Amino acid sequence: MKLSEIYEDRAIASNVMPKISFEVFPPKGGEDEFPALYQELNLLKKYNPALVSLTWGAGGKNNNSMELVKSLLLDLNLNVMAHFTCICNSKENVEKHIKEIESLGIENVLALRGDEPQDIDVCHKDFRYANELVTFIKSKTDLSIAVAGYPEGHIEAPDLKTDIDNLKRKVDCGAEAIYTQLFFDNDMYYSYVEKVRKQGIEIPIIPGIMPVISCKQVERMTSMAKVLVPVKMREKLEKFRDCPEDMKKFGIEYASIQCSKLIDFGVCGLHFYTLNKAYSTSHILDNVMSVV
Ligand code: FAD
Repeated sequence: MKLSEIYEDRAIASNVMPKISFEVFPPKGGEDEFPALYQELNLLKKYNPALVSLTWGAGGKNNNSMELVKSLLLDLNLNVMAHFTCICNSKENVEKHIKEIESLGIENVLALRGDEPQDIDVCHKDFRYANELVTFIKSKTDLSIAVAGYPEGHIEAPDLKTDIDNLKRKVDCGAEAIYTQLFFDNDMYYSYVEKVRKQGIEIPIIPGIMPVISCKQVERMTSMAKVLVPVKMREKLEKFRDCPEDMKKFGIEYASIQCSKLIDFGVCGLHFYTLNKAYSTSHILDNVMSVV
């Protein structure tokens, strides 16, 4: 099912359960670790995900992405959205893969720039920004294309307005949905949606939710991206720094409240950064579904 069909009710009424999607990444240990991922995804299947998106390692380090795409589709019968990145990816390579996934019956891709790797000798420069990749995929296939959005602005952008202008380029090139960077303060998302809509962008903006599981994870994310950690959350993170079970519990509670408020706001989708684990995401969904 294509993105436009999945999110056809963009102006969904508040308090209606939105479409659920899960993001996973190819396990670092390669094929040996695929069964563990399948087990987690089988646990998440009961939430009837509209799609499961699979990341693409920047710099050509795609760690069996294509093998996994096939397997998620054919063995797990999931609606897979494959990610593609510009960085170090040649036109030939992208064309080969998008044609392959289209021939498998996959309908959606997420087009990204990716981040520059430090340790790659040969790096193709065929695409500089994600909008160029959107244009290329559009010219070669009938795939529906999603792109990334940053409620707090992309880390390299001089300001949020410039970043939204650049988001508009991706939409004008044919993107059909925006999946956001994670955020911990819903006000960032609400104000982003308002600004993006003022720019004339009408496509769905699906909020990205990442359940907190450790301080290390939050510190890593906030070093790579502009993500505000609210003071009250920061205090709890410190409190539970050395108590993994309490930290997980806090992460579930926090994200459950975030999701409930987003549902009240009327989002048409919720995209979970699962970190390849079902535990936190399934607890959040149980909490949220019990009140919707
Ligand atoms: P772009 O849209 O190209 O933007 C990058 C920067 O350039 C921004 O500052 C933007 O304002 C600016 N810009 C954009 N277009 C132009 C232009 N035409 N002229 C001048 N400036 C411009 N990374 C991976 O490696 N693999 C993944 O699978 C992956 N999945 C992701 C999924 C989601 C939902 C999100 C939010 C991010 C994901 N990322 C992934 C991370 C992403 O690759 C990085 O955030 C990257 O730094 C930016 O990618 P982008 O597609 O947003 O880039």
